[in-house]
Amino acid sequence: MTLRRFLLAAATVATIGSTTWAACWAWQNPPQIGFQDTPLLPGGKWHVHDGTRAQPPVVTPGTAGTPDAPGKAPSDAIILFDGHDLARWRAEDGSPSGWKIADGAMIVPPKGTSGGGPTFTKQAFGDCQIHLEFATPTPARGTGQGRGNSGLIIMGRYEVQILDCYDNVTYADGTSTAVYGQTPPLVNASRKPGEWQTYDVAFTAPRFKADGAVESPAFVTIFHNGVLTQNHTASLGSVVWRAVAKYEKHGEKEPIMLQDHGDPVRFRNIWVREIKSVEQP
Ligand code: MG
Repeated sequence: MTLRRFLLAAATVATIGSTTWAACWAWQNPPQIGFQDTPLLPGGKWHVHDGTRAQPPVVTPGTAGTPDAPGKAPSDAIILFDGHDLARWRAEDGSPSGWKIADGAMIVPPKGTSGGGPTFTKQAFGDCQIHLEFATPTPARGTGQGRGNSGLIIMGRYEVQILDCYDNVTYADGTSTAVYGQTPPLVNASRKPGEWQTYDVAFTAPRFKADGAVESPAFVTIFHNGVLTQNHTASLGSVVWRAVAKYEKHGEKEPIMLQDHGDPVRFRNIWVREIKSVEQP
């Protein structure tokens, strides 16, 4: 055996040996996750960097939409509309939703056609994240509130306005992503009529005391086409027109509603994720 071959063989044996030893050591001494000798966080339940705290559930993220194709929902989302049917929606009286489907979109029935009226999810939701994509009619018709009007009405009460606000002036608290009748959006991030737009909403449901008094209001945070337009805005109550909203006690979970305001607004890729506290199992 040449010296070169001897050194190569010795190195191989040493490598295998050290790898085996490392594996055995790791098996007998699993890595410590976190700490138990750190101060307690407020609430007295968890230490800072507590290693016994539950790991966050794993979610496979979705993908963003394009002008030609809707995005893909995260793996734990409840799909409300994927372009095919209205199985998860109903009319106000509980009968099947009469909204139309064409080219992968669900559409508010045009005036003078059948199937109109608001459409509701069959499932009820409380705290949640909502994603929807919509396009206002093209060519645009009408002005102000009469142009591409619909609405995302969470819990059937709290309206996030949907309106064609591209080069269309109306009262500020009635523009797209306004908390209708009270809080205008921070900016107008609208796209042109006919172009697909996105709303990404984080909603916290209101809490009520036993006597019906408000314990904490509803809060909404909204990104319109990726731009922040509402930042943890508190709702004044159930949406009304030309009046100040007020609360009426309701269930912890209520259906999501899309508004029929007479304009054939199109929707695609609608999904929702229920938000649970990190301490909930
Ligand atoms: Mg509306």
